[in-house]
Amino acid sequence: LVTRADFLHALENDIKPVSRADFLHALENDIKPAFGTSQEILSRFLARGIINWGNPVKNILEDGMLYIQQAKAEDTAGIVSVLLEGPPNSGKTALAAQLAKNSDFPFIKACTPEEMVGFTETAKCLHIRKIFDDAYRSTLSCIVVDNIERLLDYGPIGPRYSNLTLQALLVLLKKEPPAGKKLLVLCTSSRRQVLEDMEMLSAFTGILHVPNISNAEFLLAILDYLEIFTGDELKHIAKNVQGRRLFIGIKKLLALIDMVKQSREGHRVVKFLTKLEEEGGLEDVGNCY
Ligand code: ATP
Ligand code: MG
Repeated sequence: LVTRADFLHALENDIKPVSRADFLHALENDIKPAFGTSQEILSRFLARGIINWGNPVKNILEDGMLYIQQAKAEDTAGIVSVLLEGPPNSGKTALAAQLAKNSDFPFIKACTPEEMVGFTETAKCLHIRKIFDDAYRSTLSCIVVDNIERLLDYGPIGPRYSNLTLQALLVLLKKEPPAGKKLLVLCTSSRRQVLEDMEMLSAFTGILHVPNISNAEFLLAILDYLEIFTGDELKHIAKNVQGRRLFIGIKKLLALIDMVKQSREGHRVVKFLTKLEEEGGLEDVGNCY
């Protein structure tokens, strides 16, 4: 039983006052933001890993490594910014997260439109600026700016976007970090043309194109890796996709496979091919409108 005296004694002797420094330390280190720490966000982006389905993926990871080395090198500019652009669902965010992870930089931060839902333009700019300011304090930092067109509130109907946020991003992408600090910025977008129209493309050190899966060989490499179909089933699929137009993003393909996995064995191949056609990922050649 705790008596009033015990309690008062503890209050007097054991409980340390919380200083402003303690509070700021906790805020920085112990209190997790609602959307998760950057590590958590990165592992969420990478939840399903990266399947090396062919040369396009290999090239992106290799070129990405060169940009990482460029960012680390002493005799280069303080900032290296890379845009990963490609169709929706092609795996841009996951690849950006993988590159951030590969960089092994001590400070990695993600800047996503999800964490800024409902922010005013000014709040958004201040938030992005804070991320860059925090990064400038570390010697080697990496910032992932996911889905730039969303961040800029771009809408194709209209079209409209936030010019304030665009200008803020442009300034930050061109700004040299303080002397001795190095910054790698990895951005993703499915709207290359829009960024071009906004005169943003020239702000990047480099652009990496993330393609959809567009031939049978790549598709079969993925199916083979996932081990959901038997050898005979794979042959059947190969025969069906050979010579037809294939165009599907990895994210969509993985979701489609998840769905097909639920269907009865024996029906999976038919289900898979039908779904692939329905999703528009598989077409007969010459079938253009
Ligand atoms: P959106 O256009 O909606 O932003 P996205 O292009 O950013 O989509 P991701 O969100 O990165 O696509 O989704 C890709 C998914 O595929 C992730 O779950 C990732 O783990 C998985 N994946 C597997 N292999 C690869 C690969 N080689 N490249 C990219 N992603 C892969
Ligand atoms: Mg994405």
